[in-house]
Amino acid sequence: MLRRRWAKQVAFLVAWLGAAALLGLLFGAPAWWLTAALLLYVAHTLRYIYLLDRMLDGGKRHAPFATRGLWAEILARVDTIKTKSRNRKKKFHRVLREIRESTGALSDGGVILNGDNEIVWFNPAATLLLGLDPRTDIGRRLDNLIRHPEFVSYLAEPGGEGITFPSPKMESAWLALQIIPYGRDQRIAIVRNVTREVNLERTRRDFVANASHELRSPLTVLSGYLDTFADDEDLPNRWKVPIAEMLRQSNRMTQILRDLMELMRLESAESDASRDFVDVCTMLGLMVRDFDSATEEHPAVSLHLETDAALLGNETELHSIFFNLIHNAVRFTPATGSVAVIWRTDDQGAAFEVTDTGIGIPEEEIPRITERFYRVDPGRSRAIGGTGLGLAIVKHAVQRHDGVLEIASVEGEGSTFLCRFAAERLLYRGGQAEAAV
Ligand code: ADP
Repeated sequence: MLRRRWAKQVAFLVAWLGAAALLGLLFGAPAWWLTAALLLYVAHTLRYIYLLDRMLDGGKRHAPFATRGLWAEILARVDTIKTKSRNRKKKFHRVLREIRESTGALSDGGVILNGDNEIVWFNPAATLLLGLDPRTDIGRRLDNLIRHPEFVSYLAEPGGEGITFPSPKMESAWLALQIIPYGRDQRIAIVRNVTREVNLERTRRDFVANASHELRSPLTVLSGYLDTFADDEDLPNRWKVPIAEMLRQSNRMTQILRDLMELMRLESAESDASRDFVDVCTMLGLMVRDFDSATEEHPAVSLHLETDAALLGNETELHSIFFNLIHNAVRFTPATGSVAVIWRTDDQGAAFEVTDTGIGIPEEEIPRITERFYRVDPGRSRAIGGTGLGLAIVKHAVQRHDGVLEIASVEGEGSTFLCRFAAERLLYRGGQAEAAV
């Protein structure tokens, strides 16, 4: 097409100049005839260049006089390109308006951030929830505007399920923040008002804590009387079995209440666990000795202290973590099996590991066993004195120590429970200890 158009144009020019030369030869002064023909051609070309320029400048859509030839085609093509681009622009504006209207109607706040956490855009809900001002805050760093420590550290290192923090604008309101990366170094911060959920959760926790607390005193009285009856030599024989069973059940209830209160305390504690010096090796040594010297039948429990590192944490909570995991391993492993308790360090920090050769856990149950009252086999757990709260306590306590709990298990072969603690919670006393109890 292009070649044909240009061939035609060149042919026209040659014919035009040929005709001028012929007229020059016929009437004389061919040079003047040729000059006049060239000038006319230049004028014709300039006229169309002017029209093209005017069109590109946003002028008339159609050049009325160019209906045929190269210029007509060039102008028609420019016109088509312009119409297409105008339509695209319109569509783009329409989409933009729709996005603006829909994000404006959202009750969740959305803030677009660049790689330096500077605000690129935000919707009206973000103004309401975070107190951002569209006139002054575009281009400013979000962590300079919202100074809540948890917010600042999450923004620096987003990940996981996001965070909940108090609203900087609305009194006693709570917000949930999640950061989603997209495009090239862009991120969108989604902010949701979760005041209702937080208050409901708090009410639920308070209720459980209060109910447990209120039930403890009457239960202590009942257990006390049952203890006395159980020890009474003169108790009629027909009462001995029921009293022993009542005592067993009231002890179980006391244990459930104790675990519930412990769990509620861990869940409602707002800050991380304290950073007291905890001598893990001594604590584990005593604990494993107690387990291993228990009178009832139990699997062999061995302790492997591969480091003498101490932890900076809460002694009661760490005791609870270690005790619950070893206790579970002992309870869910037959007397012929074995339990290994390991304390070691690596380049990521420290690891407390309990490995048993017990009954194991079916793969699909593993994600659920840290839920409150979740047991793989409720009957068996109850029979061996479980409350169903041990692992929930462990998970919370580990999290409060900036750690993670990892569970691996093969049904019928055994399980490994691993608690990882960050290096910043470790205190080395020099030298590596190698011991086995
Ligand atoms: P429980 O008081 O029932 O032991 P936990 O929260 O400590 O409650 O544990 C929840 C469930 O996880 C247990 O009932 C059991 O089914 C499973 N479980 C925990 N530890 C082990 C283990 N070492 N081996 C096999 N199953 C385990």
